[in-house]
Amino acid sequence: MSNCLFCRIVAGEIPAKIAYEDEDVIAFHDLNPQAPLHVLVIPRKHIATINDIQPDDAALIGKLYLAAKQVAADAGYADDGYRVVMNCGADAGQSVFHIHLHVLAGRHLSWPPG
Ligand code: 5GP
Repeated sequence: MSNCLFCRIVAGEIPAKIAYEDEDVIAFHDLNPQAPLHVLVIPRKHIATINDIQPDDAALIGKLYLAAKQVAADAGYADDGYRVVMNCGADAGQSVFHIHLHVLAGRHLSWPPG
């Protein structure tokens, strides 16, 4: 989708600091990091929200988590811990409507989130 910010990052039209990529998934550092490590893991395929995920996307969603695990391990946070979260919709704080996992690490993360 040409008007989707993250599709434009997938297309290379907007620069991003890549942390991981394969044929289905890209992970890049958040522009406004909320922790020492804050990476967004997205599918190359445009899916707007969790509500738009279809049964055929099940393997792709699994790949997002495998990429998140890889990003955390590569950054050295596998043992100390990290948070992986996906917001769905405005009330949850979703601001970019192309699904993305936030991978956060490097500080104590409180629970519940605000
Ligand atoms: P959401 O609020 O939708 O869960 O998360 C969107 C995330 O995208 C935010 O953490 C925000 O900082 C990040 N973001 C917004 N625009 C850009 C951008 O152009 N580049 C990068 N790397 N991150 C962005």
